[in-house]
Amino acid sequence: MILLSHQKRLTSFWLGRACVFCSYRKTFVTARGYVKCARCGKQKSLKRLRRELEIICAFVEQRPALQVSVEMKISYQKVVSFAQIPSRAITPSSNMAST
Ligand SMILES: [Zn+2]
Repeated sequence: MILLSHQKRLTSFWLGRACVFCSYRKTFVTARGYVKCARCGKQKSLKRLRRELEIICAFVEQRPALQVSVEMKISYQKVVSFAQIPSRAITPSSNMAST
């Protein structure tokens, strides 16, 4: 598989080698499969983190949400709600209209 540039950047988060909250490079995996940061102490499920990163990559590749939900076997609503986070970040005018 050929990795795109944005996928390479996400690799450290994908493997649990960097904290998603503070980007600190010292992390460890707990017994229940969570990645815990050595600096900020926050932890997140590695399985859930990978699923969220897959949704972000699908959003970047402009794949339809329904297709992604079928492929990943998760609900369409969950994909849409998570894909709205980066779309809101890149369209500040829609933020102002909604508030
Ligand atoms: Zn951290």
